[in-house]
Amino acid sequence: MSTLINPSTGEELDASPASASLEDADAVIARAHEAFPAWRDLAPGERARLLRAFAAVVDAHNEELARLEVLNAGHTIANARWEAGNVRDCLNYYSATPERLFGRQIPVAGGTDVTFHEPLGVVGIIVPWNFPMPIAAWGFAPALAAGNTVVLKPAELTPLTATRIGELALEAGLPEGVLNIVPGKGSVVGERFVTHPLVRKVCFTGSTTVGKQIMAGCADQVKRVTLELGGKSANIVFADTDVAAAAASAPYAVFDNAGQDCCARSRILVQRSAYDEFVGRLETSVKALRVIDPADEQSEMGPLVSAGQRDSVRAYLDGASIAFTGSAPDGPGWWLPPTVVESSDTSEAIWREEVFGPVVAVMPFDDEDEAVALANDSDYGLSGSIFTSDVGRALRVSRRVEAGNLSVNSHSSVRYWTPFGGYKQSGLGRELGPDAPHAFTEEKNVFIAH
Ligand code: NAD
Repeated sequence: MSTLINPSTGEELDASPASASLEDADAVIARAHEAFPAWRDLAPGERARLLRAFAAVVDAHNEELARLEVLNAGHTIANARWEAGNVRDCLNYYSATPERLFGRQIPVAGGTDVTFHEPLGVVGIIVPWNFPMPIAAWGFAPALAAGNTVVLKPAELTPLTATRIGELALEAGLPEGVLNIVPGKGSVVGERFVTHPLVRKVCFTGSTTVGKQIMAGCADQVKRVTLELGGKSANIVFADTDVAAAAASAPYAVFDNAGQDCCARSRILVQRSAYDEFVGRLETSVKALRVIDPADEQSEMGPLVSAGQRDSVRAYLDGASIAFTGSAPDGPGWWLPPTVVESSDTSEAIWREEVFGPVVAVMPFDDEDEAVALANDSDYGLSGSIFTSDVGRALRVSRRVEAGNLSVNSHSSVRYWTPFGGYKQSGLGRELGPDAPHAFTEEKNVFIAH
């Protein structure tokens, strides 16, 4: 694996896990396949107990995992602790699944009809670099709970926490071969998950471009696939809202994780009569954002993950009409200040494309219909926010915006116990929430003649 670099300082890290070859990937998939029958057949209460033990071990290593993410991905320490805690929470939540994976009994004539939710076998999980811990857990926790074994490929840039979580699973008592972390290249290991016949499902989170290739590849074996892809979400601010509160919260909805968040509200639509007030207040809140060393307890935004990502974000700013920026440290590391652009043309790349960095585009609108039309004028449909004090409008607009995860007078979009996923080119299928284990099972119907 290429050398890992601390994004905050540009210095090399001394930990770099080996990159798996095609043969290595095949060997791990074979191990996961071998481990499957015993894991599937474990008494439900025992599988539940092991997942709770795994959660407890992750919890006991929260600080270690969080520090690793600060070093490897430049996440703020507060976020990184939350992310490691989210792994624990997902494991605890889905540890309730094994004893509750009910089928149904459906009335029929001449017999009894029952359904079963049966695990698929080996599930391949492919993870991006922006949230290495939570996105891994959103896949492996429900997959394991439903009785599958897992092969998981972290992103090339951020393999450290996933590798450690794999070790912690063994420490907690999960049998060898049940959760396998396979660091390596997307074009080698990730691609093998798609082509290997023993991998029965691919759960992919990443860019829409690669997601389309994965979906096409999976078609060959009619392989099950879940896709969590990009976004260009809108934060719609109506003039009837508390404009000060909306402007105070907007930076956190887009600049969290330095904007490298698929749910980032990277388009802000503001009703014209409140536009000037909103932009003025936004400037104050953006300038107050603490963009400092992510290891500092006070840090609210760290660097971008890599030099390449910073260059890609900078390219969007060439020629853009920048209204104002916040601050960022000088010197080494992949820093960029939070940046606000005023947009007037919906065909501009900065308005349409997922910049995946600390850049937000703001545009005025006149009425509700225009706000909805602008929000929906996107190939993406992942999340979004609606700020209004009118309950009827909040519900109307929520129903009309084509996105999987909306929040009203708030920017929260991901809770492990509510469903998460995208409309349109933001994805296929849903993760998290009470139904996630079903995405890792086949439903079987059995009729018994009397
Ligand atoms: P990416 O698509 O480049 O890579 C994602 C993962 O896929 C990596 O592990 C990579 O190694 C692997 N991969 C690359 N090529 C592959 C191939 N041909 N076959 C199989 N695997 C392959 O994305 P990224 O740059 O790591 O992540 C950023 C993207 O992820 C953004 O577009 C973002 O919106 C998206 N994302 C979406 C969600 C969501 O839940 N919707 C969450 C986080 C990130």
